Amino acid sequence: MDAPLVLTTHIDPNEIDKEAHNIDVTAQYPLEFYNATLTYTNPKEIIPHIDSVHNRLGTPQQYEETMFTHHTDNIAAGPKNSAYKTLESMVDKMNAQLLLATKIRAVDDWDVAERVINSHFLPDLIGNLHAFTKQRVRCVKCGAKYRRPPLQNSCPRCGGRIVLTVHEGSVKKYLDVSLRVAEQYNIEPYTKQRIELLKKEIKSLFENDKSKQKGLADFM
Ligand SMILES: [Zn+2]
Repeated sequence: MDAPLVLTTHIDPNEIDKEAHNIDVTAQYPLEFYNATLTYTNPKEIIPHIDSVHNRLGTPQQYEETMFTHHTDNIAAGPKNSAYKTLESMVDKMNAQLLLATKIRAVDDWDVAERVINSHFLPDLIGNLHAFTKQRVRCVKCGAKYRRPPLQNSCPRCGGRIVLTVHEGSVKKYLDVSLRVAEQYNIEPYTKQRIELLKKEIKSLFENDKSKQKGLADFM
């Protein structure tokens, strides 16, 4: 549910989000439903047994006699502030989600970890790595932006210092946490390898192979 793009004064249930058509509007579930749960039946197969908004589209019942299975004292009860807002950083949110996944028996925690990495962390790492190498530079003094770093190494307009607009930190932001989660939840080797490859790419971008600072201990 995002910001509205279109406002309408007349709501036709046929035109609303299809997801909402799946709401069941029955006062109780039939025995067929409970029997079907025992055989892991595809939910689509028991649709005919359960009355939903979908069945009522275009009839007067689309607006009335909407029933429910459990009573409540307050239809607006529930969290006033979602955990998505109370947990601040992305890592906090993910840790909370994974902790929950480990507690729920019906959920495979490694699968949750895998999905978070594949749908959030990997695209973020890849996207920022790409952005870093294609970034523009900026003058700290006058704020002028340049598509490429000026050869004179200072702002051609005012002589000010030139800095990057995408920083190393934002590229590496989710690397450590991805590696930790991948190890902790033992996700698919393929995904692990994708993270390892990204780690190598990031390392080769930020570390100079020729002049590496060494300590005395390195030679002993
Ligand atoms: Zn400047």
